[in-house]
Amino acid sequence: MNNELYDAPKYHILTYGCQMNVRDSETIAGLLENSGYVSSGIEEADLIVFNTCSVRHSAENKVYGKLGEILARRRKKRPDMLVAFGGCMAQLPDVRQRLKKRGVDIVFGTHNVHELPALLDMAKQSRKPVFQVWEQEGTIIEPLPSLRKPGFSAFVNIMHGCNNFCSYCIVPYTRGRERSRKPLEIIRELNELAAAGYREITLLGQNVNSYGLGLENKVDFADLLLMANNVDGIERIRFMTSHPKDVSNKLLYAIAEGQRICEHVHVPLQSGSNRILNKMNRGYSREHYLELISRIREIIPEAAISSDLIVGFPGETEEEYLETLDMVEKIRFDAAFTFMYSARSGTRAALMEDQVEIDEKRKRLAQLNKQQYQIATEINRSLEGRIDEVLVEGVSKTDSQKLSSRTRTNRIVNFSGQKDLIGKLINVRITEARTFSLFGEVI
Ligand code: SF4
Repeated sequence: MNNELYDAPKYHILTYGCQMNVRDSETIAGLLENSGYVSSGIEEADLIVFNTCSVRHSAENKVYGKLGEILARRRKKRPDMLVAFGGCMAQLPDVRQRLKKRGVDIVFGTHNVHELPALLDMAKQSRKPVFQVWEQEGTIIEPLPSLRKPGFSAFVNIMHGCNNFCSYCIVPYTRGRERSRKPLEIIRELNELAAAGYREITLLGQNVNSYGLGLENKVDFADLLLMANNVDGIERIRFMTSHPKDVSNKLLYAIAEGQRICEHVHVPLQSGSNRILNKMNRGYSREHYLELISRIREIIPEAAISSDLIVGFPGETEEEYLETLDMVEKIRFDAAFTFMYSARSGTRAALMEDQVEIDEKRKRLAQLNKQQYQIATEINRSLEGRIDEVLVEGVSKTDSQKLSSRTRTNRIVNFSGQKDLIGKLINVRITEARTFSLFGEVI
């Protein structure tokens, strides 16, 4: 055994929430490894890092539950273990108060992830808790080390923060205002990923459509996509999330033109009612959204369209909820993530008085899901017999005898095949459709 490695301090990261956090955890891992730490299982770790999400209350409760478990273990077995806490929850003052009482060693925020190694040193030397959270976003620091999981699919941040202030969302408060990475930095990262064998990249931002705001050179998201499309070795380009108010025709033509850009557009509708959209501060109407869907289908006929939908937003009447159902019926989304509204303290919607009863929200969600699942099943059935190019992602999570793959339109296809196909692009014939996945055979 390498003695140096044996003696090296060990870390374990617990990641909660969205792809942004997954990507931030890769940066945290890179920073820690550069400081001499090595990755380990949770039991052996000398340092446990929580990278947290505050989008929903349930996510916060999960974090507090796990934190309690870790701190209890530290008391009983590992008094020398350090606990660091970062991510969106750390940006919230009431959370930091709670962490102080519970004995967390290091707290850092979304804007100063790069400071983690220095904060660790301070905590070790002073043997006192170190809480350092930047309230305001700074300039983007490039390049930061990063430790990606080996594979063929990678997330790439193109921007940070959000300017939209949807009334139910905490993100602008925890991630700050929009800042775009320089296009050349992004393309440099893509070239490195291609050289390392990655074949699919997902460009990440809270609102990728507004990429480029504040950059010296006038480069928008459509330009960036086409630049990414020219990176040799990257076979598939995905992106999320698009805001319906900012999808330009230039962007849709770029998706249609770029051979490597996948024909999948995720555009969160959230509600089918204009009054509720207004209360949500979404910045578009149902008419605008329907017109957007027509433009997507006209310019990219092959495109799969997916969405996010919320039921039970404060004040949502039965009629307004039925307007959401009506949009689902009219548009026929290929897939939709559906949610019951849950109040997020610190947001404007949480202060609205006319909160909808939980039983009513449950009823609406169940009905909405039933309708959406039926539509998704019908669309999937129409694909039976068709031949599609898929990227083979690994062994299926639901059937270890099968491989799991994804079409350009983001549909999962499970099929029987040799493991050496993992990471490859192959053609499969769709043989059977289900609501959330397809079955196929290699041709
Ligand atoms: S666009 Fe709205 S929902 Fe999305 S991150 Fe920004 S504020 Fe939140």
